[in-house]
Amino acid sequence: MLIEKNSVVSFHYRLSEPGEAVFEDSHDGQPLVYLHGHRGMLVGLEAALAGKQAGDTLSVTLPPEQAYGQRQDDAVQRVSLKHVVGRAAKKLKPGMAVQVNTDHGPRDVIVVKAGLKTVDVDTNHPLAGKTLVFDVEVVGVRAATAEELTHGHAHGAGGHQH
Ligand code: ZN
Repeated sequence: MLIEKNSVVSFHYRLSEPGEAVFEDSHDGQPLVYLHGHRGMLVGLEAALAGKQAGDTLSVTLPPEQAYGQRQDDAVQRVSLKHVVGRAAKKLKPGMAVQVNTDHGPRDVIVVKAGLKTVDVDTNHPLAGKTLVFDVEVVGVRAATAEELTHGHAHGAGGHQH
């Protein structure tokens, strides 16, 4: 079965920057699962996966515009410590990755400067500004269920559990 719109795709990947060591490897856990053609995956990666099938391997290089975008210099924000998830569990230090609660749910940010009651965080995606190389192995392809199409995402192991 070839990957096309409304396919549910599971794949393993190794992620690196060009010429650098792998810094993320899905082989340590479950493959990633997504519903093809429903904006649930990086656009450039989805385009490269179209027409592939289980067992296929591919290497995809995505410039920042096709991955997590360019870094925004004005993306540093000052937030109250009470919005930092798990703030009591650790001492905040510059460069530390934390989550802050927002109106749209928790968001991954990087600590720039920590104060007594506030913390300055960089809200750029940690991978913003980076060219990324995905070494992908397609694990499985199946047709989406009617319910998955209604929801616009994949269900089951590796997908939404609800
Ligand atoms: Zn759902």
